[in-house]
Amino acid sequence: MSGCLFCDILSGDKRSGIVYEDEHIAAFEDINPQAPVHVLVLPKRHYTGLNDAPAETSGRCIEAARRIASEKGIDNSGYRVVANCGSDGGQTVGHLHFHLLGGRRMKWPPG
Ligand code: 5GP
Ligand code: ZN
Repeated sequence: MSGCLFCDILSGDKRSGIVYEDEHIAAFEDINPQAPVHVLVLPKRHYTGLNDAPAETSGRCIEAARRIASEKGIDNSGYRVVANCGSDGGQTVGHLHFHLLGGRRMKWPPG
């Protein structure tokens, strides 16, 4: 979608940062990592967020996150997959994405 930061990343010259890609899904490192592993996993097609995407799309993202966690070697130590939704959820970029976080011990509850 025009004017969407993540659509721009997927179609532009920052594509070199992509760490995973298949027909439907792409993933790249977060620019402001909150953990040793912090990858953003998102559909190539634009959906504003969790409320708008079909379950199949969200499922594909989570499956890709699981694979990336394995590739990054954090599948056994553990990791967190998070989708922030809307303003109370803390979403700042309006293109559905899942955060894959790992490589350190996570705290709960989140802030
Ligand atoms: P949200 O706050 O919507 O859940 O997550 C947005 C994420 O996108 C944040 O963790 C933020 O650091 C990341 N981000 C914002 N701008 C860019 C960018 O230009 N490139 C990358 N790789 N990540 C970005
Ligand atoms: Zn987009």
